[in-house]
Amino acid sequence: MELVHSGKVRDVYADGDDLILVASDRVSVYDVVLPTPIPGKGAILTQLSLWWFDRLGDVVPNHVISEDVPAEWAGRAIRCRRLEMFPVEFIARGYLAGLGLKEYEKQGTVSGVPLPPGLVEASRLPEPVFTPTTKATTGHDEFITFDDVVREIGAETAERLRDLTLEVYRRGADLARERGVIIADTKLEFGRAPDGTIVLADEVLTPDSSRFWPADSWEPGRAQHSLDKQFVRDWSSSVTGWDRTPPGPEIPDDVVAATRARYAEVYERITGSPWRL
Ligand code: ATP
Ligand code: MG
Repeated sequence: MELVHSGKVRDVYADGDDLILVASDRVSVYDVVLPTPIPGKGAILTQLSLWWFDRLGDVVPNHVISEDVPAEWAGRAIRCRRLEMFPVEFIARGYLAGLGLKEYEKQGTVSGVPLPPGLVEASRLPEPVFTPTTKATTGHDEFITFDDVVREIGAETAERLRDLTLEVYRRGADLARERGVIIADTKLEFGRAPDGTIVLADEVLTPDSSRFWPADSWEPGRAQHSLDKQFVRDWSSSVTGWDRTPPGPEIPDDVVAATRARYAEVYERITGSPWRL
């Protein structure tokens, strides 16, 4: 099979008209792939995405064809439809964290959307906000406004994708909340099928693409216990001398184990099934 793309986490192969999306155990922070893998991470991302795709089928069609992939990738790869991807990261935020928090602290807005005063880190927003970013091929993604998305893909498609992004977020957040997990925010990717249909692609509502917080310890005004990649970001920020450019630092064994445990925990909490690896 021909390797058509090697991203930070996934390798993408072409098999006839289909793509095979293989999730590796690589982890990236601040867009730098770290030299140490997190064993089992690729399988967790793939299985959790499949679980969500299944449950979101009545909101939006998705790119999954099957799990029929070469044996060496079994469990961590899917066969999917090849789409023309929209050049935007479709992000929904229900709580204040990360770049959203930064912008709010500076100017009271997130992605240009005005928010009420008095919010703090991890505050719940009055309602979820659509905060798209660029999908940079090099360098970091940056916030863009809804109008920028309109200019990029047209008003009708932009509105549809904004609505779908918020709906997927709401559905996911409601379901996870029943299972004790807050989904603070999430990033989605959509593409267009040859017949023009809008399709949900890539990965969905995973600890690489979302912020997950245990609901029972949620407390605005401080950093939250995170069941996602934030744990690795926080550790990497504590590494003296690393300026967030390649090469990234080796991850020590205890941080690898703790990261892996968090990814498995969020899989188990959300799906209600034991993680098998
Ligand atoms: P980059 O590709 O810029 O490195 P990334 O590190 O997030 O970004 P990965 O997630 O590792 O990339 O790789 C997955 C790639 O496959 C992404 O570029 C994503 O947009 C693309 N992709 C996902 N699903 C599909 C699909 N159905 N059709 C075409 N491309 C897809
Ligand atoms: Mg990606």
